[in-house]
Amino acid sequence: MIVVMKLGSPEAEITRISEDFKHRGLTPEKIVGQHRVVLGLVGDTASFDPLQLQEISPWIEQVLRVEQPFKRASREFRHGEPSEVTVPTPNGAVTFGEQHPLVLVAGPCSVENEEMIVETAQRVKAAGAQFLRGGAYKPRTSPYAFQGHGESALGLLAAAREASGLGIITEVMDTADVEKVAEVADVLQVGARNMQNFSLLKKVGAQEKPILLKRGMSATIDEWLMAAEYILAAGNSRVILCERGIRTFDRRYTRNTLDLSVLPVLRSLTHLPIMIDPSHGTGWAEYVPAMAKAALAAGTDSLMMEVHPHPAKALSDGPQALTPELFEHLVKEMAPIAESTGRRQQQTMAIA
Ligand code: PEP
Ligand code: MN
Repeated sequence: MIVVMKLGSPEAEITRISEDFKHRGLTPEKIVGQHRVVLGLVGDTASFDPLQLQEISPWIEQVLRVEQPFKRASREFRHGEPSEVTVPTPNGAVTFGEQHPLVLVAGPCSVENEEMIVETAQRVKAAGAQFLRGGAYKPRTSPYAFQGHGESALGLLAAAREASGLGIITEVMDTADVEKVAEVADVLQVGARNMQNFSLLKKVGAQEKPILLKRGMSATIDEWLMAAEYILAAGNSRVILCERGIRTFDRRYTRNTLDLSVLPVLRSLTHLPIMIDPSHGTGWAEYVPAMAKAALAAGTDSLMMEVHPHPAKALSDGPQALTPELFEHLVKEMAPIAESTGRRQQQTMAIA
């Protein structure tokens, strides 16, 4: 349920109403929008009559039920107001959100060694990226494939952060590693294969770092948003959704089918920021630029792309990696699209 307050509602009245809801066994979450304050009510709201709750104060404009199964993640929960995720990085704060410029995340699939990760960081930074991505812990289909360098790769990400000033996005696969990964990462990635690892979702929801939640390869949009709801319900409100392609019937020419229709669909369903990953979405570097530009035109808040200094030598996902040169070229090609959609690429801003 949400409680929409009238314009200019006094702070003391909002506090009084919140206390009243608490006494009724509900948990109010105050959302300060651009225009008005909304109280999101979580708990067993089924037995309450919205019209009766409206009587609690003359400052309440309306009490509405959230019809979707995902409550906190729903657009209704914020009365249509988009949420934003601001991440401090050494180069300044970067904000993911519908009303902010495009955020670029780039880097290799896996962190392979110090030289390549630092070089990639510097190259993608120079091309315009705000975040470096790179896996220390890799979820691989085969147990015999390269599994990532683990903890030592976290140290290399820290070195790349230091050298470039970029924020770091890296995957956490195991509940036992959350604290360790969160020491280095500015944003924790929950990968497609763990989208419904509920223990992991609860654990990352109970810590402070923002979460990049990738869509499971066979997940419906409802399942994806319910997974986000786990993180939000555990107390972490900073969630970014990442579409990375889903399984369809043809795998001969593309690794996955990048579902760009999620952009308008998610916009109507949720307030959370959206990222598109055309690298895993197509599986082939040559298809990445077209899909990145399409995602930008369709209104994505952010793009994540795999970039490797020598794709042919990559220990994982080489075929889908752009070279730093191609990445730089793509960023230039995207500029007029970003401009025309009002999503100029983000300059990091010094934290006040
Ligand atoms: C990755 O980002 O390298 C990755 C493993 O992604 P996904 O979980 O989408 O497969
Ligand atoms: Mn990858």
